[in-house]
Amino acid sequence: MMNNKKVVVIGGGLSGISSSVFLSGTGCRVTLLESTGKLGGRTFSFYDEETGLTFDNGQHIMAGWYRNTLELIGLMNKEPKLKFNPNLEVYFRDIEGKQFEFHSRGDNPFVAVAKGFIDYEPLTFKDKLHLLALRELIELDVSDRLLKGRNLEWLLGYLKQTENLKRYFWYPFTYAVFNTSPKYVDAVVFLNVLVKSFEKFGDLSLIVPDEPLGSIFIEPFTKYAEGKIDIRMNANVKNISIKDGSVKGIVLENGEEITGDYYISAVPFYNFKNILDTEILNKYFNDLSELVSASIVSIYIVPVKMPDNFSEKFYHGMVGMLDTKVHWLFFKKDYICVIISAPEYTVEGYDSISKEKLIEIVTEEIRGCFPEFRDMKVKRVKYFKEKRATFLPTIESGLQRPESATGIKNLFIAGDWTNTGIPATIEGAVTSGKKCSDLIKEQIERER
Ligand SMILES: Cc1cc2nc3c(=O)[nH]c(=O)nc-3n(C[C@H](O)[C@H](O)[C@H](O)COP(=O)(O)OP(=O)(O)OC[C@H]3O[C@@H](n4cnc5c(N)ncnc54)[C@H](O)[C@@H]3O)c2cc1C
Repeated sequence: MMNNKKVVVIGGGLSGISSSVFLSGTGCRVTLLESTGKLGGRTFSFYDEETGLTFDNGQHIMAGWYRNTLELIGLMNKEPKLKFNPNLEVYFRDIEGKQFEFHSRGDNPFVAVAKGFIDYEPLTFKDKLHLLALRELIELDVSDRLLKGRNLEWLLGYLKQTENLKRYFWYPFTYAVFNTSPKYVDAVVFLNVLVKSFEKFGDLSLIVPDEPLGSIFIEPFTKYAEGKIDIRMNANVKNISIKDGSVKGIVLENGEEITGDYYISAVPFYNFKNILDTEILNKYFNDLSELVSASIVSIYIVPVKMPDNFSEKFYHGMVGMLDTKVHWLFFKKDYICVIISAPEYTVEGYDSISKEKLIEIVTEEIRGCFPEFRDMKVKRVKYFKEKRATFLPTIESGLQRPESATGIKNLFIAGDWTNTGIPATIEGAVTSGKKCSDLIKEQIERER
Protein backbone atom coordinates (compact mmCIF):
# COMPACT_ATOMS: atom_id res chain seq x y z
CA MET A 1 0.00 0.00 0.00
CA MET A 2 1.49 3.34 -1.12
CA ASN A 3 1.82 5.98 1.60
CA ASN A 4 3.42 8.55 -0.70
CA LYS A 5 6.31 9.27 1.67
CA LYS A 6 9.70 9.58 0.06
CA VAL A 7 12.79 8.18 1.77
CA VAL A 8 16.32 8.92 0.61
CA VAL A 9 18.89 6.26 1.54
CA ILE A 10 22.58 7.15 1.32
CA GLY A 11 24.88 4.16 0.66
CA GLY A 12 24.31 0.99 -1.37
CA GLY A 13 26.00 -1.51 0.96
CA LEU A 14 23.99 -4.18 2.78
CA SER A 15 22.62 -1.72 5.36
CA GLY A 16 21.37 0.57 2.58
CA ILE A 17 19.99 -2.38 0.61
CA SER A 18 18.25 -3.69 3.74
CA SER A 19 16.76 -0.24 4.53
CA SER A 20 15.48 0.05 0.94
CA VAL A 21 13.94 -3.43 0.74
CA PHE A 22 12.20 -3.31 4.13
CA LEU A 23 10.95 0.23 3.43
CA SER A 24 9.68 -0.53 -0.03
CA GLY A 25 7.52 -3.19 1.63
CA THR A 26 5.83 -0.45 3.70
CA GLY A 27 4.81 1.47 0.58
CA CYS A 28 7.39 4.27 0.81
CA ARG A 29 9.01 5.59 -2.35
CA VAL A 30 12.72 4.92 -1.90
CA THR A 31 15.67 6.55 -3.64
CA LEU A 32 19.02 4.86 -3.00
CA LEU A 33 22.17 6.93 -3.60
CA GLU A 34 25.46 5.08 -4.06
CA SER A 35 28.69 6.98 -4.57
CA THR A 36 30.50 4.31 -6.59
CA GLY A 37 29.61 2.37 -9.73
CA LYS A 38 28.76 -0.81 -7.80
CA LEU A 39 26.33 -1.93 -5.11
CA GLY A 40 27.23 -4.08 -2.12
CA GLY A 41 29.82 -1.89 -0.37
CA ARG A 42 32.12 -4.26 1.50
CA THR A 43 30.42 -7.33 0.00
CA PHE A 44 31.08 -7.76 -3.68
CA SER A 45 32.24 -10.25 -6.29
CA PHE A 46 34.28 -9.70 -9.41
CA TYR A 47 35.25 -11.70 -12.47
CA ASP A 48 38.94 -12.53 -12.95
CA GLU A 49 39.63 -12.67 -16.68
CA GLU A 50 42.90 -14.55 -16.35
CA THR A 51 41.31 -17.59 -14.68
CA GLY A 52 37.68 -17.15 -15.75
CA LEU A 53 36.71 -17.42 -12.06
CA THR A 54 34.50 -15.15 -9.95
CA PHE A 55 35.97 -14.20 -6.58
CA ASP A 56 34.46 -12.35 -3.64
CA ASN A 57 36.36 -9.49 -2.01
CA GLY A 58 36.76 -12.00 0.84
CA GLN A 59 34.95 -15.19 1.83
CA HIS A 60 31.96 -14.25 3.96
CA ILE A 61 30.39 -16.67 6.40
CA MET A 62 26.97 -16.29 7.97
CA ALA A 63 25.20 -18.18 10.72
CA GLY A 64 21.79 -19.59 11.56
CA TRP A 65 21.24 -16.71 13.98
CA TYR A 66 21.48 -14.19 11.09
CA ARG A 67 17.67 -13.97 11.17
CA ASN A 68 17.28 -10.55 9.56
CA THR A 69 19.76 -11.45 6.82
CA LEU A 70 17.90 -14.66 6.01
CA GLU A 71 14.63 -12.68 5.95
CA LEU A 72 16.16 -10.11 3.57
CA ILE A 73 17.55 -12.83 1.30
CA GLY A 74 14.11 -14.49 1.27
CA LEU A 75 12.34 -11.23 0.36
CA MET A 76 14.67 -10.62 -2.58
CA ASN A 77 14.93 -14.19 -3.80
CA LYS A 78 12.18 -16.76 -3.34
CA GLU A 79 14.58 -19.65 -3.91
CA PRO A 80 17.92 -18.80 -2.31
CA LYS A 81 20.51 -21.52 -2.75
CA LEU A 82 21.91 -21.58 0.77
CA LYS A 83 22.53 -25.09 2.07
CA PHE A 84 23.57 -25.60 5.64
CA ASN A 85 23.70 -28.13 8.41
CA PRO A 86 21.61 -27.03 11.42
CA ASN A 87 24.29 -28.34 13.77
CA LEU A 88 27.70 -26.73 14.24
CA GLU A 89 30.29 -28.61 12.22
CA VAL A 90 33.86 -27.33 12.10
CA TYR A 91 37.13 -28.91 10.96
CA PHE A 92 40.56 -27.86 12.16
CA ARG A 93 44.13 -28.66 11.11
CA ASP A 94 47.29 -28.00 13.10
CA ILE A 95 50.73 -27.16 11.76
CA GLU A 96 51.66 -30.86 11.67
CA GLY A 97 48.66 -31.65 9.50
CA LYS A 98 46.66 -33.32 12.29
CA GLN A 99 42.94 -32.93 11.83
CA PHE A 100 40.37 -32.31 14.59
CA GLU A 101 36.62 -32.19 14.13
CA PHE A 102 33.95 -30.47 16.17
CA HIS A 103 30.43 -31.75 15.59
CA SER A 104 27.51 -30.63 17.71
CA ARG A 105 24.74 -33.21 17.57
CA GLY A 106 21.11 -32.99 18.65
CA ASP A 107 18.09 -30.69 18.70
CA ASN A 108 18.85 -28.95 21.98
CA PRO A 109 21.71 -26.51 21.25
CA PHE A 110 23.18 -26.72 24.78
CA VAL A 111 23.21 -30.52 24.83
CA ALA A 112 24.43 -30.63 21.21
CA VAL A 113 27.42 -28.40 21.95
CA ALA A 114 28.22 -30.27 25.16
CA LYS A 115 28.34 -33.50 23.15
CA GLY A 116 30.53 -31.76 20.58
CA PHE A 117 33.03 -30.80 23.27
CA ILE A 118 33.00 -34.27 24.85
CA ASP A 119 34.04 -35.82 21.53
CA TYR A 120 36.44 -33.05 20.51
CA GLU A 121 39.76 -34.86 20.36
CA PRO A 122 42.33 -32.20 21.32
CA LEU A 123 40.69 -31.55 24.69
CA THR A 124 41.85 -33.40 27.80
CA PHE A 125 39.61 -34.50 30.65
CA LYS A 126 40.81 -31.45 32.61
CA ASP A 127 39.90 -29.10 29.75
CA LYS A 128 36.42 -30.58 29.61
CA LEU A 129 35.99 -30.10 33.38
CA HIS A 130 36.81 -26.41 32.92
CA LEU A 131 34.02 -26.14 30.36
CA LEU A 132 31.58 -26.61 33.24
CA ALA A 133 32.36 -23.03 34.25
CA LEU A 134 30.49 -21.92 31.13
CA ARG A 135 27.26 -22.74 32.99
CA GLU A 136 27.74 -19.38 34.70
CA LEU A 137 27.37 -17.67 31.31
CA ILE A 138 23.88 -19.12 30.87
CA GLU A 139 22.75 -17.34 34.01
CA LEU A 140 24.35 -14.01 33.07
CA ASP A 141 22.38 -11.20 31.54
CA VAL A 142 24.08 -8.87 29.03
CA SER A 143 23.43 -6.00 31.45
CA ASP A 144 25.19 -7.90 34.27
CA ARG A 145 27.62 -5.68 36.18
CA LEU A 146 30.23 -8.42 36.05
CA LEU A 147 30.69 -7.81 32.31
CA LYS A 148 30.79 -4.00 32.37
CA GLY A 149 34.17 -2.73 31.20
CA ARG A 150 35.52 -6.27 30.67
CA ASN A 151 36.89 -7.79 27.52
CA LEU A 152 36.65 -11.37 26.27
CA GLU A 153 40.23 -12.15 27.29
CA TRP A 154 39.31 -11.28 30.88
CA LEU A 155 36.10 -13.31 30.67
CA LEU A 156 37.91 -16.43 29.41
CA GLY A 157 40.34 -16.08 32.34
CA TYR A 158 37.48 -15.55 34.80
CA LEU A 159 35.80 -18.71 33.45
CA LYS A 160 39.13 -20.55 33.90
CA GLN A 161 39.31 -21.61 30.27
CA THR A 162 42.55 -23.56 29.75
CA GLU A 163 45.22 -22.80 27.12
CA ASN A 164 43.99 -25.84 25.17
CA LEU A 165 40.42 -24.56 25.13
CA LYS A 166 41.59 -21.16 23.96
CA ARG A 167 43.87 -22.57 21.27
CA TYR A 168 41.51 -25.20 19.89
CA PHE A 169 38.22 -23.33 20.23
CA TRP A 170 37.95 -19.81 21.60
CA TYR A 171 40.66 -18.13 19.50
CA PRO A 172 39.54 -19.52 16.09
CA PHE A 173 35.94 -18.70 17.07
CA THR A 174 36.90 -15.13 18.02
CA TYR A 175 38.82 -14.52 14.77
CA ALA A 176 35.88 -15.79 12.72
CA VAL A 177 33.11 -13.88 14.47
CA PHE A 178 34.79 -10.71 15.73
CA ASN A 179 37.68 -10.39 13.26
CA THR A 180 40.23 -9.78 16.01
CA SER A 181 41.70 -11.29 19.17
CA PRO A 182 39.80 -11.58 22.48
CA LYS A 183 41.46 -8.58 24.12
CA TYR A 184 39.71 -6.24 21.65
CA VAL A 185 36.28 -7.79 22.13
CA ASP A 186 33.81 -6.31 24.60
CA ALA A 187 32.48 -9.16 26.80
CA VAL A 188 28.95 -7.75 26.38
CA VAL A 189 29.13 -8.02 22.56
CA PHE A 190 30.46 -11.57 22.96
CA LEU A 191 27.56 -12.55 25.23
CA ASN A 192 25.06 -10.96 22.80
CA VAL A 193 26.36 -13.20 20.01
CA LEU A 194 26.34 -16.25 22.27
CA VAL A 195 22.74 -15.63 23.36
CA LYS A 196 21.65 -15.27 19.71
CA SER A 197 23.48 -18.47 18.75
CA PHE A 198 21.63 -20.53 21.36
CA GLU A 199 18.09 -19.19 20.94
CA LYS A 200 16.84 -22.16 18.95
CA PHE A 201 17.87 -25.24 17.02
CA GLY A 202 19.78 -24.22 13.89
CA ASP A 203 21.02 -20.86 15.18
CA LEU A 204 24.51 -22.27 15.72
CA SER A 205 24.94 -23.50 12.19
CA LEU A 206 27.53 -21.91 9.94
CA ILE A 207 26.36 -20.79 6.51
CA VAL A 208 29.16 -20.76 3.98
CA PRO A 209 27.77 -19.58 0.65
CA ASP A 210 28.86 -21.74 -2.28
CA GLU A 211 27.86 -18.96 -4.63
CA PRO A 212 29.52 -15.56 -5.01
CA LEU A 213 28.17 -12.72 -2.85
CA GLY A 214 26.91 -10.97 -5.98
CA SER A 215 24.48 -13.83 -6.68
CA ILE A 216 23.21 -13.86 -3.10
CA PHE A 217 22.70 -10.15 -2.50
CA ILE A 218 23.36 -7.84 -5.43
CA GLU A 219 21.73 -9.51 -8.43
CA PRO A 220 18.54 -10.42 -6.48
CA PHE A 221 18.39 -6.87 -5.07
CA THR A 222 18.75 -5.28 -8.50
CA LYS A 223 15.94 -7.47 -9.80
CA TYR A 224 13.77 -6.85 -6.72
CA ALA A 225 14.26 -3.09 -7.05
CA GLU A 226 12.90 -2.91 -10.61
CA GLY A 227 9.89 -0.60 -10.55
CA LYS A 228 10.08 -0.34 -6.73
CA ILE A 229 13.31 1.41 -5.77
CA ASP A 230 15.02 4.25 -7.61
CA ILE A 231 18.73 3.34 -7.54
CA ARG A 232 21.16 6.09 -8.43
CA MET A 233 24.74 5.00 -8.98
CA ASN A 234 27.76 7.35 -8.95
CA ALA A 235 25.74 9.66 -6.72
CA ASN A 236 28.30 10.82 -4.19
CA VAL A 237 26.66 12.62 -1.27
CA LYS A 238 28.69 15.62 -0.20
CA ASN A 239 26.48 17.02 2.51
CA ILE A 240 23.32 16.33 4.49
CA SER A 241 21.84 19.77 4.88
CA ILE A 242 20.30 20.25 8.34
CA LYS A 243 18.34 23.25 9.56
CA ASP A 244 16.20 23.75 12.68
CA GLY A 245 16.65 20.14 13.79
CA SER A 246 15.61 18.45 10.56
CA VAL A 247 17.13 17.47 7.23
CA LYS A 248 16.24 19.86 4.43
CA GLY A 249 17.91 17.90 1.65
CA ILE A 250 20.94 16.07 0.34
CA VAL A 251 23.61 17.76 -1.74
CA LEU A 252 25.51 15.62 -4.23
CA GLU A 253 29.07 16.25 -5.32
CA ASN A 254 27.80 17.57 -8.68
CA GLY A 255 25.71 20.19 -6.84
CA GLU A 256 22.37 18.46 -7.40
CA GLU A 257 19.93 18.63 -4.46
CA ILE A 258 17.70 15.72 -3.55
CA THR A 259 14.85 15.99 -1.08
CA GLY A 260 12.60 13.54 0.71
CA ASP A 261 10.43 13.19 3.81
CA TYR A 262 12.89 10.95 5.64
CA TYR A 263 16.59 10.23 5.24
CA ILE A 264 18.77 7.26 6.15
CA SER A 265 22.55 7.46 6.25
CA ALA A 266 23.86 3.94 5.51
CA VAL A 267 27.54 4.82 5.07
CA PRO A 268 30.45 3.68 7.29
CA PHE A 269 31.49 5.86 10.25
CA TYR A 270 34.52 7.27 8.41
CA ASN A 271 32.24 8.55 5.61
CA PHE A 272 29.52 9.71 8.01
CA LYS A 273 31.91 12.23 9.59
CA ASN A 274 32.47 13.82 6.17
CA ILE A 275 28.88 14.34 5.08
CA LEU A 276 27.79 16.38 8.08
CA ASP A 277 28.89 19.90 8.98
CA THR A 278 31.23 19.93 11.97
CA GLU A 279 28.86 21.92 14.16
CA ILE A 280 26.03 19.42 13.47
CA LEU A 281 28.36 16.54 14.23
CA ASN A 282 29.42 18.16 17.51
CA LYS A 283 25.86 19.03 18.49
CA TYR A 284 24.13 15.73 17.77
CA PHE A 285 26.82 13.03 17.69
CA ASN A 286 29.97 12.13 19.59
CA ASP A 287 33.30 12.33 17.77
CA LEU A 288 33.39 8.59 16.91
CA SER A 289 37.12 8.59 17.69
CA GLU A 290 36.87 5.23 19.49
CA LEU A 291 35.67 3.44 16.36
CA VAL A 292 38.83 1.86 14.96
CA SER A 293 39.02 -0.13 11.74
CA ALA A 294 40.49 -3.63 11.45
CA SER A 295 41.59 -5.23 8.17
CA ILE A 296 41.07 -8.63 6.57
CA VAL A 297 43.62 -10.20 4.23
CA SER A 298 42.17 -12.64 1.69
CA ILE A 299 44.51 -14.58 -0.57
CA TYR A 300 43.09 -16.61 -3.44
CA ILE A 301 45.40 -19.38 -4.60
CA VAL A 302 44.53 -21.08 -7.87
CA PRO A 303 46.53 -24.31 -8.29
CA VAL A 304 47.18 -25.72 -11.73
CA LYS A 305 45.02 -28.64 -10.61
CA MET A 306 42.86 -28.99 -7.49
CA PRO A 307 42.59 -32.55 -6.13
CA ASP A 308 39.19 -33.97 -7.16
CA ASN A 309 36.30 -33.23 -4.78
CA PHE A 310 38.72 -31.97 -2.13
CA SER A 311 36.31 -29.37 -0.72
CA GLU A 312 33.83 -32.14 0.11
CA LYS A 313 36.16 -33.52 2.78
CA PHE A 314 35.21 -30.60 5.02
CA TYR A 315 31.98 -28.80 5.89
CA HIS A 316 31.59 -26.43 2.93
CA GLY A 317 35.33 -26.76 2.35
CA MET A 318 36.05 -24.74 5.50
CA VAL A 319 39.03 -25.47 7.77
CA GLY A 320 40.20 -23.59 10.87
CA MET A 321 43.99 -23.45 11.00
CA LEU A 322 45.81 -23.74 14.30
CA ASP A 323 49.17 -22.07 15.12
CA THR A 324 49.58 -20.69 11.61
CA LYS A 325 49.49 -17.20 10.13
CA VAL A 326 46.38 -18.34 8.23
CA HIS A 327 43.23 -18.39 10.36
CA TRP A 328 40.69 -19.97 8.03
CA LEU A 329 40.93 -21.75 4.69
CA PHE A 330 38.11 -22.39 2.24
CA PHE A 331 38.62 -25.06 -0.39
CA LYS A 332 36.53 -24.41 -3.48
CA LYS A 333 36.23 -26.45 -6.66
CA ASP A 334 38.97 -24.52 -8.47
CA TYR A 335 40.82 -22.55 -5.85
CA ILE A 336 41.70 -22.04 -2.17
CA CYS A 337 40.68 -18.92 -0.28
CA VAL A 338 42.90 -18.01 2.66
CA ILE A 339 41.69 -15.64 5.38
CA ILE A 340 43.83 -13.76 7.88
CA SER A 341 41.69 -11.78 10.32
CA ALA A 342 42.97 -8.36 11.31
CA PRO A 343 46.66 -9.37 10.96
CA GLU A 344 47.75 -6.01 12.44
CA TYR A 345 46.23 -7.22 15.75
CA THR A 346 46.55 -11.00 15.49
CA VAL A 347 49.82 -11.84 13.69
CA GLU A 348 53.08 -11.16 15.51
CA GLY A 349 55.58 -9.18 13.45
CA TYR A 350 53.01 -8.58 10.70
CA ASP A 351 54.28 -5.05 10.00
CA SER A 352 57.63 -6.34 8.77
CA ILE A 353 56.22 -9.07 6.49
CA SER A 354 55.88 -8.04 2.83
CA LYS A 355 52.89 -9.08 0.77
CA GLU A 356 55.13 -11.42 -1.31
CA LYS A 357 56.57 -13.00 1.84
CA LEU A 358 53.11 -13.48 3.31
CA ILE A 359 51.94 -15.28 0.14
CA GLU A 360 55.03 -17.50 0.34
CA ILE A 361 54.42 -18.29 4.05
CA VAL A 362 50.75 -19.04 3.47
CA THR A 363 51.49 -21.32 0.51
CA GLU A 364 54.02 -23.23 2.60
CA GLU A 365 51.51 -23.56 5.45
CA ILE A 366 48.99 -25.12 3.05
CA ARG A 367 51.64 -27.50 1.71
CA GLY A 368 52.62 -28.44 5.28
CA CYS A 369 49.13 -28.99 6.67
CA PHE A 370 47.61 -30.75 3.67
CA PRO A 371 49.75 -33.56 2.16
CA GLU A 372 47.50 -33.47 -0.94
CA PHE A 373 48.99 -30.03 -1.72
CA ARG A 374 52.63 -30.87 -1.01
CA ASP A 375 53.50 -30.75 -4.74
CA MET A 376 51.00 -28.01 -5.58
CA LYS A 377 51.89 -25.88 -8.60
CA VAL A 378 50.34 -22.45 -8.38
CA LYS A 379 48.72 -20.96 -11.49
CA ARG A 380 47.56 -17.64 -10.04
CA VAL A 381 47.46 -15.77 -6.75
CA LYS A 382 45.13 -12.86 -5.99
CA TYR A 383 45.82 -10.88 -2.84
CA PHE A 384 43.31 -8.54 -1.24
CA LYS A 385 43.59 -6.43 1.79
CA GLU A 386 40.41 -4.67 2.89
CA LYS A 387 41.97 -2.11 5.23
CA ARG A 388 38.66 -1.12 6.79
CA ALA A 389 36.87 -4.47 6.72
CA THR A 390 35.32 -4.16 10.19
CA PHE A 391 35.72 -2.09 13.34
CA LEU A 392 37.18 -3.43 16.57
CA PRO A 393 34.28 -4.31 18.91
CA THR A 394 36.06 -2.88 21.94
CA ILE A 395 34.47 -1.63 25.16
CA GLU A 396 35.29 1.95 24.10
CA SER A 397 33.71 1.58 20.64
CA GLY A 398 30.55 0.26 22.29
CA LEU A 399 30.17 3.56 24.14
CA GLN A 400 30.23 5.50 20.85
CA ARG A 401 28.04 3.39 18.57
CA PRO A 402 25.02 5.60 17.83
CA GLU A 403 21.37 4.56 17.91
CA SER A 404 19.47 4.47 14.59
CA ALA A 405 17.15 7.26 15.74
CA THR A 406 19.02 10.57 15.99
CA GLY A 407 18.32 13.98 17.55
CA ILE A 408 17.48 15.15 14.01
CA LYS A 409 13.86 14.26 13.56
CA ASN A 410 13.83 12.93 10.00
CA LEU A 411 17.37 11.45 9.96
CA PHE A 412 18.15 7.81 10.82
CA ILE A 413 21.46 5.95 10.77
CA ALA A 414 22.12 2.44 9.51
CA GLY A 415 25.43 0.62 9.11
CA ASP A 416 27.25 -2.26 10.83
CA TRP A 417 28.85 0.30 13.20
CA THR A 418 25.57 1.55 14.71
CA ASN A 419 24.38 0.20 18.03
CA THR A 420 23.08 -3.23 17.09
CA GLY A 421 24.87 -4.92 20.01
CA ILE A 422 26.63 -7.30 17.60
CA PRO A 423 29.97 -6.99 15.79
CA ALA A 424 30.55 -5.59 12.28
CA THR A 425 28.83 -8.28 10.27
CA ILE A 426 26.35 -8.79 7.48
CA GLU A 427 23.71 -9.36 10.16
CA GLY A 428 24.67 -6.12 11.91
CA ALA A 429 24.34 -4.16 8.66
CA VAL A 430 21.02 -5.77 7.69
CA THR A 431 19.59 -5.42 11.22
CA SER A 432 20.46 -1.72 11.30
CA GLY A 433 18.67 -1.16 7.98
CA LYS A 434 15.58 -3.00 9.17
CA LYS A 435 15.65 -0.98 12.40
CA CYS A 436 15.63 2.31 10.41
CA SER A 437 12.75 1.04 8.30
CA ASP A 438 10.75 0.15 11.45
CA LEU A 439 11.45 3.56 13.01
CA ILE A 440 10.29 5.41 9.89
CA LYS A 441 7.17 3.24 9.70
CA GLU A 442 6.35 4.13 13.34
CA GLN A 443 6.97 7.83 12.69
CA ILE A 444 4.68 7.81 9.64
CA GLU A 445 1.97 6.18 11.79
CA ARG A 446 2.42 8.80 14.52
CA GLU A 447 2.31 11.69 12.05
CA ARG A 448 -0.84 10.44 10.35
C1 LIG B 1 36.93 -9.12 3.49
C2 LIG B 1 35.72 -9.05 4.37
C3 LIG B 1 35.25 -10.21 4.97
C4 LIG B 1 34.14 -10.14 5.78
N1 LIG B 1 33.67 -11.31 6.31
C5 LIG B 1 32.48 -11.31 6.93
C6 LIG B 1 31.89 -12.54 7.32
O1 LIG B 1 32.46 -13.60 7.13
N2 LIG B 1 30.67 -12.50 7.92
C7 LIG B 1 30.01 -11.34 8.14
O2 LIG B 1 28.88 -11.38 8.64
N3 LIG B 1 30.56 -10.13 7.82
C8 LIG B 1 31.77 -10.10 7.20
N4 LIG B 1 32.33 -8.91 6.83
C9 LIG B 1 31.68 -7.64 7.25
C10 LIG B 1 30.54 -7.21 6.33
O3 LIG B 1 30.92 -7.29 4.98
C11 LIG B 1 30.19 -5.75 6.66
O4 LIG B 1 29.91 -5.64 8.04
C12 LIG B 1 28.98 -5.24 5.89
O5 LIG B 1 29.06 -5.55 4.52
C13 LIG B 1 28.88 -3.72 6.08
O6 LIG B 1 27.77 -3.19 5.36
P1 LIG B 1 27.39 -1.64 5.50
O7 LIG B 1 26.22 -1.40 4.63
O8 LIG B 1 27.27 -1.28 6.93
O9 LIG B 1 28.65 -0.82 4.96
P2 LIG B 1 29.35 -0.84 3.52
O10 LIG B 1 29.34 -2.19 2.96
O11 LIG B 1 30.67 -0.20 3.69
O12 LIG B 1 28.43 0.07 2.60
C14 LIG B 1 28.47 1.47 2.60
C15 LIG B 1 28.15 2.00 1.21
O13 LIG B 1 28.05 3.42 1.28
C16 LIG B 1 28.66 3.99 0.13
N5 LIG B 1 29.02 5.37 0.45
C17 LIG B 1 29.99 5.81 1.30
N6 LIG B 1 30.01 7.14 1.33
C18 LIG B 1 29.03 7.58 0.50
C19 LIG B 1 28.57 8.86 0.11
N7 LIG B 1 29.14 9.98 0.58
N8 LIG B 1 27.54 8.94 -0.79
C20 LIG B 1 26.93 7.82 -1.28
N9 LIG B 1 27.35 6.57 -0.93
C21 LIG B 1 28.38 6.45 -0.06
C22 LIG B 1 29.89 3.07 -0.09
O14 LIG B 1 30.38 3.20 -1.41
C23 LIG B 1 29.27 1.70 0.20
O15 LIG B 1 28.72 1.13 -0.96
C24 LIG B 1 33.48 -8.92 6.04
C25 LIG B 1 33.97 -7.75 5.46
C26 LIG B 1 35.07 -7.81 4.63
C27 LIG B 1 35.55 -6.54 3.99
